[in-house]
Amino acid sequence: MKHNFGAGPCILPQTVFEKAAAAVLDFNGLSILEVSHRHKDFVAVMDEAIELVKKALNVPTGYSVVFMQGGASLGFTIAALNMMRDNKRAGYFNTGTWASGAIKEAKKVGVDVSVLASSEDKNFNYIPKDYTIPSDLDYLHFTSNNTIYGTQYKQFPVTDLPLVCDMSSDIFSQVIDVSKFDLIYAGAQKNLGPAGATIYIVKDSALGKSTSPFMPSYLDLKQQVDKESMLNTPPVFSVYVALLNLRNLLENGGVSEMEKRNIAKATLLYNEIDRNTLFTGSVKTEDRSNMNVTFTLNDESNSSAFDSAWKAAGIVGLPGHRSTGGYRASLYNALPIESVQVLVDVMKHFESQG
Ligand SMILES: *Cc1c(COP(=O)(O)O)cnc(C)c1O
Repeated sequence: MKHNFGAGPCILPQTVFEKAAAAVLDFNGLSILEVSHRHKDFVAVMDEAIELVKKALNVPTGYSVVFMQGGASLGFTIAALNMMRDNKRAGYFNTGTWASGAIKEAKKVGVDVSVLASSEDKNFNYIPKDYTIPSDLDYLHFTSNNTIYGTQYKQFPVTDLPLVCDMSSDIFSQVIDVSKFDLIYAGAQKNLGPAGATIYIVKDSALGKSTSPFMPSYLDLKQQVDKESMLNTPPVFSVYVALLNLRNLLENGGVSEMEKRNIAKATLLYNEIDRNTLFTGSVKTEDRSNMNVTFTLNDESNSSAFDSAWKAAGIVGLPGHRSTGGYRASLYNALPIESVQVLVDVMKHFESQG
């Protein structure tokens, strides 16, 4: 049995894998891989997937959900293009690699980006909380969970400006108030499904208001909403597996139940990191992520022995991102607490061996 702590693409429930595998062979007589996206059976999949996103996140009326391709990386561009207004100026928080990516892409499409706060001075090991928000901004952008560093906003920025969030790595992990946002986007491969689909949750009143002179049809959320995620061929298989996962999520208590489980998993692991004399958590305690737990060995010379120990226990995906080193245990929804206990036991045993 493998315990997959990988950061993304990541673990999904075993039953979702089984149903997805079955549909590759037989989805109403065809393979899900060959069915036309215009066929009523697939249109029903798309409609239900959108409905279940809304149900799982309690999306209020006045919002639309679309599935697109391109990953969150294209979301950086889509967010900037669609939220650009007369000021052509936006506020961003630089909390790491993905946030910096969003800043870079916004500038490329002509947004004058003000970085309102950054944690770059300490290699992004905290969430900056000291900032002022100018009033002449078109929107405010932040990254709710910093997948690589292991920091997470525990309180979202409060503003009257349109709020935009890259929620790729903690969407569906906790209860959120969608009504606070104009736009949320997230790549599927961290809590929703396989790579290939990206979701956008957009306030209808924000659609069609862009002042960008450049707006490819595919990147225009208004057109995507009008065409009900069928402007072109959607990522059929990815959407189907996301639907299976959403059904499974809702059958298992929904997002509020996941939030409880995710807190329990994270608490178990952080408690061990803090108790164990061989390890140190990588980020400021109050900003610790419940999704991606980052830590280091106090004595680097122990690393090959520790690596052998967790590998022998069936753990995979534990090394930190190549830009940070150390370790990163990703605790996405589908990871059972039993897997976290296996890691904790390895850490305890490693310490007791001296
Ligand atoms: C993984 C990730 C991305 C990049 O997603 P892609 O789908 O690979 O483009 C962006 N933002 C966050 C927060 C992520 O975790």
